[in-house]
Amino acid sequence: MKKKLIKGFTDRNFSSIDKIKTKFPESAYLKQIHGKEIIYADRIGYIGEADGLYTDKVNLLLTVRVADCNAIYLWDDNINYIMILHSGWKGTVKKILLEGLKIFSKKGIDEKNLNVEISPSARKCCYEVSRDFYTKYKKRSHLFFEKRKNKFYLDLAVSNRKIAEENGISSIKIHDKCTICNENYFSYRRDNTSKRHLAYIGIRKE
Ligand SMILES: [Zn+2]
Repeated sequence: MKKKLIKGFTDRNFSSIDKIKTKFPESAYLKQIHGKEIIYADRIGYIGEADGLYTDKVNLLLTVRVADCNAIYLWDDNINYIMILHSGWKGTVKKILLEGLKIFSKKGIDEKNLNVEISPSARKCCYEVSRDFYTKYKKRSHLFFEKRKNKFYLDLAVSNRKIAEENGISSIKIHDKCTICNENYFSYRRDNTSKRHLAYIGIRKE
């Protein structure tokens, strides 16, 4: 039996856990708390309070919900392990992605065999942060700010790409869409919405 990687990002709203359970019955899901903890998922259903899941189980869909935050997908070339992360500005400042890379490293997976993919998210074209925010965090070398007309903009995807690059990952894919200026996406910043995209990754054996 051959293993196959499943990945997705819904265009419809999945803020409701009941809807996730109905449409994606193989899902494992979290209560997301903007931290950097990542939990091993060994079963379908609610796993705990954290912002990342990883597994080596097959037919188990790891999920996070996002609107402007990055969903970050990780997997190794042999699809032995998969991971999904929720990384908004807090998770990006705290480097949840680095925590994820450490887990893969502990599993003996070489960074050359590791793949990182970043979903549509809040980007430098739109994601304005305050001067105070910029002053507080500008020394964090992985954070990517752009200054335009005395305003400061943070790019969540580029910041995470820097974390991946600094740790030897070369297979990095970034979806180029900004969720704030593309109306096809839910955006907390633009609409203060409770609607969320569901991002998922799984290993299917067929
Ligand atoms: Zn934009």
